Amino acid sequence: MALLQISEPGGSPQAPPRRRAAGIDLGTTNSLVAVVRDGRVEVLPDAQGRCLLPSVVHYPPQGEPLVGEAAAAEAVKAPLNTIASVKRFMGRGLEDVQTLADRFPYDLVQGEGGMLRLRTRRGEVSPVEVSAEILKVLKARAEAALGGPLDGVVITVPAYFDDAQRQATKDAARLAGLEVMRLLNEPTAAAVAYGLDQDAEGIHAVYDLGGGTFDISILRFSRGVFEVLATAGDTALGGDDIDRLLAQWILEQAGFGGEAGDAALRRVLHAARSLKEALTEAPEAAVEVPLPGGRHWRGRLDRATFEDIIEPLIQRTLRPCRRVLRDAGIRPEDIREVVMVGGSTRIPHVRRRVGEFFACEPHVDIDPDQVVAIGAARQAEVLAGNRSGEDMLLLDVIPLSLGLETMGGLVEKIIPRNTTIPVTRAQEFTTFKDGQTAMAIHVVQGERELVRDNRSLARFELRGIPPMAAGAARIRVTFQVDADGLLSVSAQELSTGVESHVEIKPSYGLSAGEIERMLRDSYAHAREDMEARRLRERQVEAQRLADAVRSALAQDGERLLEREERAAIEAALTRLEAVCGGDDADAIDAAIEELDGATRSFAARRMDDSIQQALAGHRLEEI
Ligand code: ADP
Ligand code: MG
Repeated sequence: MALLQISEPGGSPQAPPRRRAAGIDLGTTNSLVAVVRDGRVEVLPDAQGRCLLPSVVHYPPQGEPLVGEAAAAEAVKAPLNTIASVKRFMGRGLEDVQTLADRFPYDLVQGEGGMLRLRTRRGEVSPVEVSAEILKVLKARAEAALGGPLDGVVITVPAYFDDAQRQATKDAARLAGLEVMRLLNEPTAAAVAYGLDQDAEGIHAVYDLGGGTFDISILRFSRGVFEVLATAGDTALGGDDIDRLLAQWILEQAGFGGEAGDAALRRVLHAARSLKEALTEAPEAAVEVPLPGGRHWRGRLDRATFEDIIEPLIQRTLRPCRRVLRDAGIRPEDIREVVMVGGSTRIPHVRRRVGEFFACEPHVDIDPDQVVAIGAARQAEVLAGNRSGEDMLLLDVIPLSLGLETMGGLVEKIIPRNTTIPVTRAQEFTTFKDGQTAMAIHVVQGERELVRDNRSLARFELRGIPPMAAGAARIRVTFQVDADGLLSVSAQELSTGVESHVEIKPSYGLSAGEIERMLRDSYAHAREDMEARRLRERQVEAQRLADAVRSALAQDGERLLEREERAAIEAALTRLEAVCGGDDADAIDAAIEELDGATRSFAARRMDDSIQQALAGHRLEEI
């Protein structure tokens, strides 16, 4: 595949006009914008030549908000009015961020619709509005470079972003006046930037350790298509955590025990970050922090000690690495290439550990800060129609299985986790009761066997099913997940065409932490879940059989059964009903067997009877 198709200068008049497109990496810590110009991808700098725009917004008493370096410079003086790491709050409610709340000095309040807001001197602002300020600056950069308004952008999001977080990102873009052609998972964008599609077939890993999030993805490239086999990560793990560990070390070394004020803490964090970045280049570095009372503390840190301090954090990233391998059903040796993304992968110790884990030398050639934006720009170019897209088809996956509640509170998975999107899957269901005219559809997300252990996404009803015998209606439920990972579900009764539909509204969804917990639970409870499922299935089967036998007795009992036969069936039925609500699956099994045995000849007689009735008055060749 050619890296980029260069359009002919002054080409044929029929050639469609080039559309202006850009790729945006809207990062927790830093944001960037890249465009394709003259067939080359360029990351666009500001007037001072800086490509990274710190994702910080400052609200001054009057005038326009400041964004980037200028905003970051205000953080120490005006912490409540200077919002950093806002990406962590996107699409979140106050409850979702309780664990983060004490990490940040912001005044968080619960807003309308469950989403949190931040109280500033300029009133309450939403994370969507704050992000829009960052996007506006990047938009202006791209429009200046391309010489006109943008037609569309690709914005990257962590693979673990859920519906609500993706929707919030799109809202921020809309607010900034941007048309989002597609949200793209960050690791997928990085793989595109590295042109792993130039390789022969192979399985690759993308390890992205930024300032605020960690993502690991396993990608497979085959037959010209990238497929994300599995993703995992942690949206509360990154370089910021390293800064905090180092800040702690500094506070301890400086004998600074008591409560540090917000401003002091920020200064120490700032020093910690500089110290960390210096240690990437040098084996030892100096640090200096102002203490209360105008004094200063000076110290030195060597790389070996630094590596000891951050080792636990690196270990925390390796856990999801193990999990994705397990999910993808592969071993570390199966990985061909490892791509490093995110500023924190500059740390030599991180590179070394990751290299050891995957037993190969990771790719570090492209600037780890820029690699995501570069991939996004390339994808934007394809989506804008400026080059043929068939050579770069990108697929993403859904992080948790999507399914339906079935009888007995069980989950029927319709789309298993790590299925690539966009995807449409349909499955047929039937009615449980005779004459049932409505069916409740309960959409759930998660890996556990029982509905109550999963997350409920939506409920709706299919009404107007014509009354039929239990099991006769055919209801097709269709799950559709679009390229942005948003789900819609529809149900249709096939004989009548009656239909019902629901878009899964972005409620404030799961944090990555919750997704992780749900996955962990599903592994931890796998055995117990299997047993619970078996019990529920037996209970449902027992109930179904009991209902069927009761209705058969009512219809044909008089006509087709001797009194003793009927008594034997009723006794077996009573025994089944006695155990079917209990939790002894074996006892239910035994009672089902027994009732089955007792009704065998009754069933045969009913069958003969109905065949005879059907045949009555018809000649054989008609049938
Ligand atoms: P995000 O994707 O969260 O916006 P980035 O990929 O921009 O984050 O990475 C930012 C993080 O990288 C910050 O924590 C920053 O301190 C860290 N970082 C940048 N340069 C270095 C370096 N030379 N050594 C160590 N960490 C670095
Ligand atoms: Mg990043």
